[in-house]
Amino acid sequence: MFKTSLLQSDTQLNQRSYYEASVQRPPAQAPLQGALRVDVAVVGAGFAGLSSALELVRRGYRVAVLEADRVCAGASGRNGGQAIVGVASGQGELEQQLGRADARRIWDMSLEAIDLIDARSAEFGIDCDRVHGYLYVADSPRKARALRADLEAQQRDYGLQCELAEGKEVRRFIDTDRYVAAAYENRSGHLHPLKYGLGLARAAQSLGVQLFEHSPVTGLDQTARGVTLTTAQGRLDADFAVLAGNCMLPEYGPKVAPSITPRIMPVGTYIIGTAPLDPALCERLIARRAAVCDNNFVLDYFRFSADHRLLFGGRVSYTTQTPARLEQLMRERMVQIFPELADTPVEFLWGGFVDISMNRAPDFGRVGQKVFYLQGFSGHGVALTGLAGKLVAEAVAGQAERFDVFARLRHRDFPGGPLLRTPSLALGMLFHRLKDAI
Ligand SMILES: Cc1cc2nc3c(=O)[nH]c(=O)nc-3n(C[C@H](O)[C@H](O)[C@H](O)COP(=O)(O)OP(=O)(O)OC[C@H]3O[C@@H](n4cnc5c(N)ncnc54)[C@H](O)[C@@H]3O)c2cc1C
Repeated sequence: MFKTSLLQSDTQLNQRSYYEASVQRPPAQAPLQGALRVDVAVVGAGFAGLSSALELVRRGYRVAVLEADRVCAGASGRNGGQAIVGVASGQGELEQQLGRADARRIWDMSLEAIDLIDARSAEFGIDCDRVHGYLYVADSPRKARALRADLEAQQRDYGLQCELAEGKEVRRFIDTDRYVAAAYENRSGHLHPLKYGLGLARAAQSLGVQLFEHSPVTGLDQTARGVTLTTAQGRLDADFAVLAGNCMLPEYGPKVAPSITPRIMPVGTYIIGTAPLDPALCERLIARRAAVCDNNFVLDYFRFSADHRLLFGGRVSYTTQTPARLEQLMRERMVQIFPELADTPVEFLWGGFVDISMNRAPDFGRVGQKVFYLQGFSGHGVALTGLAGKLVAEAVAGQAERFDVFARLRHRDFPGGPLLRTPSLALGMLFHRLKDAI
């Protein structure tokens, strides 16, 4: 199905990352060698795995994290940094499946997820360039109607506070004629994801979590007594395991957790980073330096970095192939929005894979009794992963009520089995893109 291996393509995509260029990583942690026993084994050192480890160690468990690559080498160290309330599917899917009361609980947990970022940053001294402020934008009258309807429902049913501007008023928030409506809210915002992720890893280790990098898990064996994870040179026994590998699929997934693999499709998404701009220009282009995201099916999402670069995300790929002329196409989209950046150099280009579930709702649950998994954040995981880790820790400790609100969500496999998943998703996406274009 994939012409290039997902891992190979993934590694190449991170080579011109602004985030990697703007942090000093600590020396690599040694891989797992030999046998080790802990209470809980975590697979994956992205936000979800690190948050699980942090919350578990706080509750007194002995925890080890196995990471195939480096800490936050996956989506958590590459994303747009937009920490957003709610879930990717929207509240409608949750209401339909769970009813209004549980949909409300998930909404409230998504707010808790945002607060958790600030609480952890303060508690562990994580300086991650945090900014509050978020702008939802619409680029056509039809999309403006959809934005208004969504926000009215979220205001009415969930108490979301936001300020809507239409027509010429949009320029109060963003200096472009590209959008016909914009809505500003202050709960969501943005951060430097790799600084945040490395801070989480430091915090977890300071509390006693053992972290092994370059230790891909290639096998999982579950018995009534516990779980055994195997790596190339080691073996980790535990009472419980947490699978937080995101797009570990399809490379490792079939060996580690074949039953949940088909529910996730890795979709590539990309970001360019410009040269630093004049800070006054940044203030003028986007009020309060909010993060911005449109409501098209294939999104444009962008924001300024702390050193005044525009980090502009968008495009998608449904195979492991990086799209042709990517930098040029992304620059063109950016210039359509901000024509005055036409001569601004692009200095960075990177991307990664988002774990999309079929209905875009998060997919949390159990494989057997001892293995918990967190996947399907569907491009909406910067904040929610943190809360997901907390819910897993509660569940391991025997208080699974909040975890199970999510676990009750039903998910379907992508149709077509391993060979046809990608083409069928691509066709579905093409349909939505055509709708957006029309
Ligand atoms: C380019 C891009 C932009 C995005 N923008 C946003 C945004 O602005 N806002 C937002 O909310 N979300 C965004 N997302 C999504 C968000 O980044 C993810 O939802 C979130 O980071 C998922 O975290 P995670 O811990 O589940 O996965 P990851 O961060 O991918 O971590 C999983 C880790 O598991 C490791 N792993 C996998 N398999 C194994 C194995 N077998 N053994 C050991 N380790 C393994 C991987 O190496 C990886 O480090 C974006 C994603 C991308 C790629």
